[in-house]
Amino acid sequence: MKAMNGLTHTEIVGLKRQLDKEQTRIRDAMHEEFVKRNVANRELSDATEVIQYSETTDDDAVVNVLNDAGISTMTRASTQLDLIEAGLTAITLGKYGVCEDCARHIGVKRLSVNPTAVCCMPCQTRREKNIPHASL
Ligand SMILES: [Zn+2]
Repeated sequence: MKAMNGLTHTEIVGLKRQLDKEQTRIRDAMHEEFVKRNVANRELSDATEVIQYSETTDDDAVVNVLNDAGISTMTRASTQLDLIEAGLTAITLGKYGVCEDCARHIGVKRLSVNPTAVCCMPCQTRREKNIPHASL
């Protein structure tokens, strides 16, 4: 017996487990990145003292690059977490596995590879090509 989204209960349970696992992994990675950044900032503030002492200002650029890299990693991770949370919410609401764009089944094959997918393969391709969907 398949639900509205074309997934069996077992399939949904499996996909939910995948999302839970991925959520834990990203949270751990974010924590690690956060710790790393704190360490980096501490090292940088030590370096700043040296820089001020030697009256060199060029190193500001290095500081900015380091911060930007850390921030974009964090941004990517938090975007991914948002997607996972949206997926988990959709499971709760029974809307998981339904394409956001065309309301067709995303399919268990695609979801098992990418459990945070919110649209089917044809719609994903359309999105990547930046072609607006007819309903938008
Ligand atoms: Zn679609």
